[in-house]
Amino acid sequence: MRHHSFEVVLGRGKKTYLRHHPASSRKTLNPFSKNQRGADIFTLVYGRLCIAEMFEEENFWRWKSHHEIKNYHPSSGPTNPLVNISHIVLHEFAHYIQANLGQRSRGSVHNTEFYSILKRLYSDNAQDIVYSSLLLAVQPCGPTTQKLLTHIEKNDCSTQLIKNVIVGEFVAFDHKNKRHQGTVTRLNKRRATVMTNSTPSLKALIPYSKILKI
Ligand SMILES: [Zn+2]
Repeated sequence: MRHHSFEVVLGRGKKTYLRHHPASSRKTLNPFSKNQRGADIFTLVYGRLCIAEMFEEENFWRWKSHHEIKNYHPSSGPTNPLVNISHIVLHEFAHYIQANLGQRSRGSVHNTEFYSILKRLYSDNAQDIVYSSLLLAVQPCGPTTQKLLTHIEKNDCSTQLIKNVIVGEFVAFDHKNKRHQGTVTRLNKRRATVMTNSTPSLKALIPYSKILKI
């Protein structure tokens, strides 16, 4: 393996990925960099919102990783945040191996080679190492440990809440510290259209979770 550097950082958003700057592709070298000339630079970014969503029953199943778990680790049984987060760790680690084997190219990062690495990681029980490392890291925090191990089920919150609001219903919602009232005129996928009873009447798109019953 070529000489390389590896850094893990916490990103602000959802984006979770492995950034790889192959040594050969860099035109100029950063004089302040500790990396030696000719080194590959890897940066693994874990989006903090991605990690947060692994704990949320209305979100974890929207991620590609959730479908990968079902394909590559079907024996994991009912899922929990520990399984979800560990899968993300393995997914990114598989990218790292893929890049080192020269099997990663722009536009085809999730290729056959990538998935055979991921499959191999599970068949070698690499997930067990990740589980125990994560549990060890959060050990001082009881509630986090408990959350990680709590069974989590898909909950499509929007469809569930659609059932609670009907077209024609008179509802309220808060916007900029002010309470508004209006009539639901349409149920969209994630938000309801509400015509306010102000003059003039305004059309507002309100997430179901923000609709208040009156
Ligand atoms: Zn990926």
